[in-house]
Amino acid sequence: MSTFLLQRDQVLRALPPQKLFIGGKWVDSDSSEVLEVRSPSTGELLGKVPHASAKDVARAVESARGAWDAWRLTPPFERAAACHRIADRILARKEQIATIISLEQGKPYIAEALPEVEETAENFRIAAEDVKRLETPIIPARDPNKRLFTFKVAIGTWGIITPWNFPTVIPSEYFGPGIAAGNTIVFKPAEQTPLAGYFLAQCMAEADLPPGVFNLITGLGPTTGDALVSHPGIDGIGLTGETHTGDTIQRRAGVKKLLMELGGNGPQIVLEDADLQRAAKAAAFGAYFNAGQVCCATERVLVDRRVHKDFLDLVVQEAKNIKVGDPFLEGVHMGPMNNLPVLEKTERHLADARQRGARVVVGGKRLANQATNFFFEPTVIDNVTPEMLLNNEETFGPVVPVITVDNYEQAIKLANATGYGLQMAIFTQDIDKAFYFADRLRSGNVVINDTTDYWEAHEPFGGGGGTKSGYGRLGGRFTFDDMTHLKTVALHINNLTPKRSA
Ligand code: NDP
Repeated sequence: MSTFLLQRDQVLRALPPQKLFIGGKWVDSDSSEVLEVRSPSTGELLGKVPHASAKDVARAVESARGAWDAWRLTPPFERAAACHRIADRILARKEQIATIISLEQGKPYIAEALPEVEETAENFRIAAEDVKRLETPIIPARDPNKRLFTFKVAIGTWGIITPWNFPTVIPSEYFGPGIAAGNTIVFKPAEQTPLAGYFLAQCMAEADLPPGVFNLITGLGPTTGDALVSHPGIDGIGLTGETHTGDTIQRRAGVKKLLMELGGNGPQIVLEDADLQRAAKAAAFGAYFNAGQVCCATERVLVDRRVHKDFLDLVVQEAKNIKVGDPFLEGVHMGPMNNLPVLEKTERHLADARQRGARVVVGGKRLANQATNFFFEPTVIDNVTPEMLLNNEETFGPVVPVITVDNYEQAIKLANATGYGLQMAIFTQDIDKAFYFADRLRSGNVVINDTTDYWEAHEPFGGGGGTKSGYGRLGGRFTFDDMTHLKTVALHINNLTPKRSA
């Protein structure tokens, strides 16, 4: 047995008991149903987690509500210190958590899983620093005997529901600011990647977070997740997931505060004056990083007809350089796709495009002779046209669809037409053109001369207003705006200013 396999076994053995984490303890579920967690890269059974019942959800919500009063009144500097302790524990367990991420999610260990864990810790550090500087306005009063103060205060108990593509960094985008601001949390990770969440819960306990501030329940979205969303004791829901899940949750939640980070269909637009080498590298990174399973992945490239051929040649070369395989092997750029539905969606979108006349230039099918059937070839497909699924819907696979455009207005129209508006990129060497596009793209985020997959942990990230990509902002201090509300306190004073005589 290789040392590496040995290490994986050690990490699996170090996992906390596969129970629920409620009130600071690992407790049995009320349900006897379990969900199997399998590795997409080896097919091995990694664990069995409870399929939490509505009763379990109610227990977790009660625990979080019970902890809230004391936690919201804990001084912010103490809450900040707790966030730093959590970050310390995450970094102390960095290799373990990254190993679990690569095992259950499939992303390359060195290039992607380790950096994900570092960013997870960073999100707690940023929140810890930001909460100490949460300034709010003191506003002028009309009444001379009053003073008006505002405070950003915690909303209450949140249900946080997250996807499988970033098993720890996405949850931490909510947990850091949420906990720092004085909220309490019930977390439901994705069914495919709950094990990394077990380590996160362990880190919270090791950081002496008061019992009940953070709770973990595992289960399926439509059952466990729905019980959480519809529970009257939940004050806010943070969802990162597909647009149709956001739609369902919005209907089920009733009057609760919602923070919705939904799907994307990021175009990369390449103008006639672009640095084509840079644009091709960015498109390949944007489409193949995490096997294309990223909300801001490069889902389509809109390229000016005058540079289409040169760009295509370059991006095909980039695709051929991508090494696919075991996520634990050094030099591997891309692991397996995470699950069958996302794989089949990619195949469906490619079949639709081929049938309508698009041409696969490289890739286009599953890789043979791998440990599982989940490995897909890095793909470039040309002659993609607006009516195809590859253009209209989020594919979430390792595909660069190339669409040729004839003018700027056509590019802007196509970019904005799908209704998604999360992150878009524009490649040009002319700053005036860059801002011509940035001003017109209906998107929460625009990147100039880099990949659609570019983000920084503390930048405000989220859907452009009125788009299918959701609303609210994750990232740094901006998340405090969504996870707190502004409380105004009016103070009566006896104004000692002498009254003017008539
Ligand atoms: P899903 O919407 O399928 O699932 C997301 C989470 O919602 C999972 O935990 C899921 O549970 C849960 N869920 C599903 N149905 C319900 C329900 N009825 N009630 C309550 N919870 C429910 O998304 P994926 O996991 O497939 O993730 C990929 C999607 O996430 C893509 O669309 C991607 O663009 C988006 N995303 C958006 C980001 C952003 O910042 N805007 C960032 C990253 C991803 P379970 O899976 O356990 O059944």
